This record gives sequence, C-alpha cells and structure tokens, in this order.
Amino acid sequence: MKHIITILWKHLMTLLYPNFCLLCEETLDYGNDKALCPQCESVHPHLREDICIICGKPLADSFDLICYDCGKRAHFFEEGRSLWVYEGLVKQSIYDYKYKKRKEYGLLFAKELIRYYNDTIRWELDMVLPVPLHKHRLRERGFNQTELMAKYFAKSFDLQVGGRKVLWRAKPTEPQKALSDRGRWDNMQDAFFANKVQVEGKTILLIDDIYTTGSTMDACAKALKIQGAKAVYCLSIAIGRGM
Ligand SMILES: [Zn+2]
Ligand SMILES: [Zn+2]
Repeated sequence: MKHIITILWKHLMTLLYPNFCLLCEETLDYGNDKALCPQCESVHPHLREDICIICGKPLADSFDLICYDCGKRAHFFEEGRSLWVYEGLVKQSIYDYKYKKRKEYGLLFAKELIRYYNDTIRWELDMVLPVPLHKHRLRERGFNQTELMAKYFAKSFDLQVGGRKVLWRAKPTEPQKALSDRGRWDNMQDAFFANKVQVEGKTILLIDDIYTTGSTMDACAKALKIQGAKAVYCLSIAIGRGM
C-alpha cells in the first residue's frame, strides 16, 4: 500500500512540477529555469543565428538573409521563429507529446518558448492564439497540444489567450505529412475562420508545434488578417531545414 502511495505521489509531482529533461528525460534540479539538461542543450541549441529573417528557418548559406521558401512565396504573417530544428530527440519528444499523450511536456515546451522569447524576441503582443485543431481531430487526440503551451506562455507574459471562439478550423484537413508541398497549400487554404470582434486591430502571436512549409501558420494568419488583425507573428517548437 505504502509503495503504491509513493508511486502515485511521484506521478502527481511529476505532473505538477516536471523536473526531467524534455529531450532525454534525465532528472533535473527543481527550480531550474531550463527544461533541458546541459548535454541536450549543447546538442540542441535554440535557433538564433543564420536563420531566415522572415520565417526563422536555419539557412544553408549564412550569407543569405531569407530562405528559399520565403523567396518563392510571400507570407500573411510578419515574422516567425522556432526553438529548434525538427530532428533527432526534438522530433521524438514532439511525437510523444502529441501521440503518447505526455501532457506534462506542455509545460516544459512552454518553459523553453518563454526562455527563448525573453532572450531573443521583441514583439509587442496583445493576444496569444494556439493553432486550432478541427473538432474531429481534437476528439480523436483528446487534447490540443498547442492550446496547453499557448496558455502557459500567455500566463507568463500576462497576455490575453484566445481559444476556439476566436480562431477555429472549419474544415477537417488531411494529415499534412502525407501531402506534397503544393498539396499542403491547397489543403489548408480557407480552412480557418476568425472572429472580427476579438481580433480587429490586435497584434497576435500564433503558437504551433511544428513549422514545415508555413502553410498552416499562413492560413491562420490569412483568416486573422481578413478580420482586421493588425499584425501576426508565429512561434513554434521546431522547424524544418530551409533549402
Ligand atoms: Zn537531456
Ligand atoms: Zn524563410
């Protein structure tokens, strides 16, 4: 009995105060303002230099200012940034968060987003919005992984956080990874709608887990701009490499 109580207590404490490395699950000290152990931090530093000045993708050639995708296509959002390149343990931990329902990762990802934002970014924001899931996908998955991160993030900067009444996905979309570049754009176009009363004149931060071609962020930004949003910025956990 005592053993069971100890296990339950540990489980509860981990849910309330996750104190392990987000990437390798090594135990961390309480009160650490980082969600990564020193080893993982050196292997996966935050993306700060040699990135596309528009979308934040790491650049193949550090003499370039913008990536191939941004040179090819204008965005509806002003600027985007991501914590890490979408590879290795970063990829694995996002997968575990979404599909193995490791909800405690939400707080750890948010912790890193907050640290990155404090260190690197100066956007004057009014509101934080998670990229919404369609209600079918939400039912399937049980929670919107991005919503949790957006809530923690907004709370830490004392910003308003909007939900599905502010920005929503009206059309169920195919899982993006099965589609080609062109397919992603067609699939996303006009999938989102925004509430004019809530977004008009506001500077909004969109939060998502992965930025690949930017089609999801762009479709959300487009819906917000149509309803009068003043500016839209994007922040994600991980991003694909630019060409
Ligand atoms: Zn680690
Ligand atoms: Zn770019």
